[in-house]
Amino acid sequence: MYLLLVGPPGAGKGTQAKRLAKMYSIPHIATGDIFREAIKNETPLGKKAKEYIEQGKLVPDEVTIGMVEERLSRDDCQQGFILDGFPRTVNQANALTDILESLELALDAAVNIDVSDEEVIKRLSGRRVCSECGASFHVEFSPPEEAGVCDECDGEVYQRDDDNPETIKERLVVYSDQTSPLIEYYQERDLLRVIDGETTPEQVFVRIKQELEAME
Ligand code: AMP
Repeated sequence: MYLLLVGPPGAGKGTQAKRLAKMYSIPHIATGDIFREAIKNETPLGKKAKEYIEQGKLVPDEVTIGMVEERLSRDDCQQGFILDGFPRTVNQANALTDILESLELALDAAVNIDVSDEEVIKRLSGRRVCSECGASFHVEFSPPEEAGVCDECDGEVYQRDDDNPETIKERLVVYSDQTSPLIEYYQERDLLRVIDGETTPEQVFVRIKQELEAME
């Protein structure tokens, strides 16, 4: 299964990508996670990405596309992958089409997890994530059993620097201006599947599975 997930920040792309990757035993490739890891390790990539991420802006395509190309060229992507957070611009989508063509692979679907701006703001302003496994929590709607400790791996649960009101607002503007045109892009190519993202994570997962099964 060769899949990508689109949707605004906080739509649940990471949560669903993790489940799908497990179900199909294929890699989950999250550009945001790769950047955060690089920032933590203070690598050259991390230094390039840091200021953009802190401001809620997109890391330039020159940096992002090369990084994804390298990742998709590895052997473990031959049997499938779930892209989470890439592409985020039409230019990235065109680059992805070229990369897959050169690898002789083809996308099966672009799944759009649809969530309103109001819901995004509610979710992101209370979001907490595990620094080890990336599990997502919410201070009000789904807090970890023990404050600050991940239910799944006992890792430390923290608030992402870019989950603050100013940056959330900027990320929504960036999504609407630069990323939402991808919905039409994949619609035109007959690859788009739209899922209501405002139900529970379990219901969203079931709906995605149903859509994918209907395609097989
Ligand atoms: P995410 O974890 O997907 O919410 O991404 C966090 C941040 O990483 C974004 O707000 C961007 O600054 C950056 N980022 C992630 N994916 C991309 C991408 N495909 N293109 C450019 N920047 C990205």
